[in-house]
Amino acid sequence: MKHTGHPIGIGTQLAQLGRTSDAHYGFVNTPVYRGSTVLFKTLDDLENHRARYTYGTAGTPTIESLESAWTALTAAAGTALSPSGLGAVALALLSALKSGDHLLVPDSVYLPTRHLCANLLERFGIETSYYDPLLGAGLEALIRPNTSTIFLESPGSQTFEVQDVPAITALARRHELTTIIDNTWATPLFFHAHGHGCDLAVEAGTKYLGGHSDILLGLVSANARLWPALKRTYQSMAMLPGAEDCALALRGMRTLHIRLQEAERRGLEMAAWLRGRPEVMTVLHPAFESCPGHAFWRRDFTGSTGVFSIVLRPLFTREDLARMLDPLSIFAMGYSWGGFESLIIPFDCRSYRTATAWNPGGLTLRLQIGLEDLDDLKADLRAGFERLSAGKR
Ligand SMILES: *Cc1c(COP(=O)(O)O)cnc(C)c1O
Repeated sequence: MKHTGHPIGIGTQLAQLGRTSDAHYGFVNTPVYRGSTVLFKTLDDLENHRARYTYGTAGTPTIESLESAWTALTAAAGTALSPSGLGAVALALLSALKSGDHLLVPDSVYLPTRHLCANLLERFGIETSYYDPLLGAGLEALIRPNTSTIFLESPGSQTFEVQDVPAITALARRHELTTIIDNTWATPLFFHAHGHGCDLAVEAGTKYLGGHSDILLGLVSANARLWPALKRTYQSMAMLPGAEDCALALRGMRTLHIRLQEAERRGLEMAAWLRGRPEVMTVLHPAFESCPGHAFWRRDFTGSTGVFSIVLRPLFTREDLARMLDPLSIFAMGYSWGGFESLIIPFDCRSYRTATAWNPGGLTLRLQIGLEDLDDLKADLRAGFERLSAGKR
């Protein structure tokens, strides 16, 4: 990035980061480099790995553009990529943990992360305990002599509890523990993970960075303390995303701030509209007081995105819900979020929570607000609510 003498704005950063035009005949974007073999000119060069690039798994210009851009954006010491967000969670955990360690994970964690702890980490002698995501300094009571790492995800998947990150990272520093945060919802634009003391920060680039539901990608950024461990683990496993996906992530990055601004505006408007619906009991949106941990969001975040949940009044059955959801014409049912299209899914975490009881008192739905016209989105949901409560009023 060129320095102009005054602090550079986020839009300017996103426009400039990771660009390598001089190395590519002036073309604005770093090309898609596909490659395994890199050729050396002499035996001496080969033996001494004397070349800017040495082999496909050791980095390409496309991968390095994305990694260096993300490192600058997150104010980290370094970034490692992964072929998916879940892969990035695994990479971060494997960088921090060793056999015999104890790991603390919030009960509100993304469900596949819970499966990863049970199905993979446990096999390598790493024990996981779950904690109430609303615990801050109180987490100290759960630390054992072999606790090495605290995982955070704020807000939590589906249920949106916002965590007291500074309290937890302060505690971790006192006990010399590593902290990893899954920062996917906020992205580095709305929550500065390393600035709040987290050692490793995970982003599912599949979501807002890609922005169009057409790539899978994960990123892990590390502060100076954890970067050597992250880099070693990354290089040992060589689980890299495809070049095409990296190029699409770089393209998504150029408009990330604009799309997030829209996601925030639309998310807030739809959440406020939903709060006014008679069928809705609670809105679980971090920017709303009704969201557990809202005060932490107000203190620590610089924005909100377009994904949140609602709790329906305890009048409705699964059959009512099917009547509401099946005929929706704009909102569609599907996993993931952060794309241009609106999504809605029911969820129920009662069966797998272990540290806290999740009793919302009604059926729950998660919404991702896309870029369609808000009047159309409201009309779609309004008709859905009428089908939901047909015969109930
Ligand atoms: C989607 C998501 C992931 C996983 O990302 P994938 O690319 O789908 O594997 C991880 N964490 C959170 C919070 C997510 O929402």
